[in-house]
Amino acid sequence: MSETIRNTRPVTDDLGREGSGELVSSRYAVRIGDVDVVMISDGVLPLPTTTMSTNVSEGARNEWFDDHFLQRDMFDWALNIALIRSGDRLILVDSGVGDGFEYFSRAGRSVMRLESAGIELAAITDVVITHMHMDHVGGLNVDGVKAKLRPDVRIHVSAKEVAFWKNPDFSKTVMPEAVPPALRKAAAKFVELYGENIVQFDQTVEVAAGVSARVTGGHTPGHCVVDVASKGEKLTFVGDMIFAVGFKNPDWQNGFEHEPELATEARIALLNEAAETGALLAAAHVAFPSIGHVAKDGAAFRFVPVQWDY
Ligand SMILES: [Zn+2]
Repeated sequence: MSETIRNTRPVTDDLGREGSGELVSSRYAVRIGDVDVVMISDGVLPLPTTTMSTNVSEGARNEWFDDHFLQRDMFDWALNIALIRSGDRLILVDSGVGDGFEYFSRAGRSVMRLESAGIELAAITDVVITHMHMDHVGGLNVDGVKAKLRPDVRIHVSAKEVAFWKNPDFSKTVMPEAVPPALRKAAAKFVELYGENIVQFDQTVEVAAGVSARVTGGHTPGHCVVDVASKGEKLTFVGDMIFAVGFKNPDWQNGFEHEPELATEARIALLNEAAETGALLAAAHVAFPSIGHVAKDGAAFRFVPVQWDY
């Protein structure tokens, strides 16, 4: 696409970023019974491919990337958030990376894309944070966002997650050097900004009719997934429990996992659950719109993306 076409409608949002005139809307909606689920792309996070599989050989990793016509060194992680409407409740699940980290300038689009879809931040009644990594809380940390949210917005985060970030353990993670300090900073800023809005829960919480969160741990000790269930239909937003490589290789540990062994167990349990129930699955870092079914494939799994319809 030429720059001329890209810039035909140079529109900036009121945070000064261009994009309201972007040609791709970057959102996709499904209906689960009486509940609407909209996936929104926050953009992509370029990261070394080594972060996708810290416990396997270079050869095995290369094979997966070769099979998918991708480069062997760097991989653009998709970053998706979800917006869920149930009755009079509007629930945001995660918030994207925001603008706190220069290197991730190809993401941080969530707020702009919500607003260009006609969703005012003031209409959001609840937020669920799957975990407090910066690519999930960063959007809420952007200057000006808090002022647009309603003062009594409820932000659901598991109690374990809040406790973990008081003194986070990175001993089992394998991340680029600059990342852990940025993660600590973003988590601290989030708690500082939203302390009064955070509603902590233990294992599960019902956020609205047909919408609940449950703790899985693993990726972070208090990581949760969000279940949408209505009229016999179901979708689970699994946050960072499943990555693109994880269907074929559910035992591949991810460099961002603080409890990699537990993450593997929880990942396999979620994949089995989706395969057995036929529920739809969506994920933060699976290619947009990231909604699909899971099928068993021997000891592994196969992801079957939905057929887009309009
Ligand atoms: Zn993430």
